[in-house]
Amino acid sequence: MMHCPICRALLNGAETCRRCRAELKQVQEVERQGREIAGAAMHFLALGDAAAAMRLLRRACVVHATPEMRLLSRIVTTAGASSAEPTVTTHASPSTPL
Ligand SMILES: [Zn+2]
Repeated sequence: MMHCPICRALLNGAETCRRCRAELKQVQEVERQGREIAGAAMHFLALGDAAAAMRLLRRACVVHATPEMRLLSRIVTTAGASSAEPTVTTHASPSTPL
């Protein structure tokens, strides 16, 4: 979180906004949790476990839905759907050297 969600003041990593005195520690904690879950989801995705990644992303979206999170879950959903019905792209690569 770069800016205070209430007054948009620059936070510089502070837990309390210096302008409006908003207590942002919990909000930042939730944001951090969301990022952690998303990171774990990426890990599962890298391992090829789209189902586990999807589960984690759904939870992350409940905790803290960011545009990035929504995009990620959309990608995972698409990846899961495409792996269900294998679309093997067999490119007949004409390796013709000069
Ligand atoms: Zn503020």
